[in-house]
Amino acid sequence: MAEYKVELTPPDISPYRAGNTGVDWVHCLDSGKPGPTVMIQALTHGNELCGAIALDWLFKQNITPLQGRLVLAFANVEAYARFDAGKPSASRFCDEDLNRVWADDVLNGRGDSIELRRARALAPFVDAADYLLDIHSMQEACRPLMVCGMQDKGAAFAKRLGMPGDLLIDTGHPSGLRMRDRGGFGDPLSPRNALLIECGQHWEQSAADVALDSVVRFLALTGMVEQSWADAHQRLPLPARQHVIRVTEPVVARTAFFRFLSAFQGLEVIPKAGTPFAQDGEQVWVTPYDNTVMVMPSLNNAKPGTTRVRLGRFES
Ligand SMILES: [Zn+2]
Repeated sequence: MAEYKVELTPPDISPYRAGNTGVDWVHCLDSGKPGPTVMIQALTHGNELCGAIALDWLFKQNITPLQGRLVLAFANVEAYARFDAGKPSASRFCDEDLNRVWADDVLNGRGDSIELRRARALAPFVDAADYLLDIHSMQEACRPLMVCGMQDKGAAFAKRLGMPGDLLIDTGHPSGLRMRDRGGFGDPLSPRNALLIECGQHWEQSAADVALDSVVRFLALTGMVEQSWADAHQRLPLPARQHVIRVTEPVVARTAFFRFLSAFQGLEVIPKAGTPFAQDGEQVWVTPYDNTVMVMPSLNNAKPGTTRVRLGRFES
């Protein structure tokens, strides 16, 4: 597994513990006017620093939304508190992945974990949001991409946002429902919409710039701020074009000996169908079609039954 330098400094978020919502680390900025409820969440995964940096910056701007309500949440604060730059991969979560517990039967079930308790506290805010932005980053140094969910409406929303360049329509996560797919967000007929941005490698400086840009543009898109304010604070140029990648299938490891035949980082395109890309015990995995895109490969998980990469194709 590649080692990446930790370029980002985790911000002190302790000033944001006491919110005004009755739930710690969750704040509601209310315009007092009618309008949508917009939610932005950082730290769904405790070692993804860029979202915390973006929200810390946003709080310091002291904005008041132009309409509706703006909910700002730091999610897995317990895992974040355990972040150690010497072992930066260890604090993704405490007990289980917070982004796999959002199905009703899990949230309302008998399970108990640090993450389930937090998800149960956050769920009323998620369910009240018309528009949601969930800020993440990736283990490998891949171009930023937007996880637009399973419905085309997510990709249409990301095109209105104007960034990043790569927009993913996928098949959900087999290990459990993600927050961004919950309720109306995953219903093609609902006007509610959610985006999950992967801002780049977890600890690279540019991930923080991408996170901040996604926040200011999301606020403008949802009418929370003037476009001119967002334009004045945007750090990076917009991509010249946005492309949709449609995931067709996951590659689930069958043995503990699964290994990739190249050091994929994500979004590589393999030109020819039938090209071997992984060895899995006796089996060789080959690309199912020409121009197969390798989506978010997981290089460091040796457990059989885990999704190691998803395969997709560029649509537009
Ligand atoms: Zn994440």
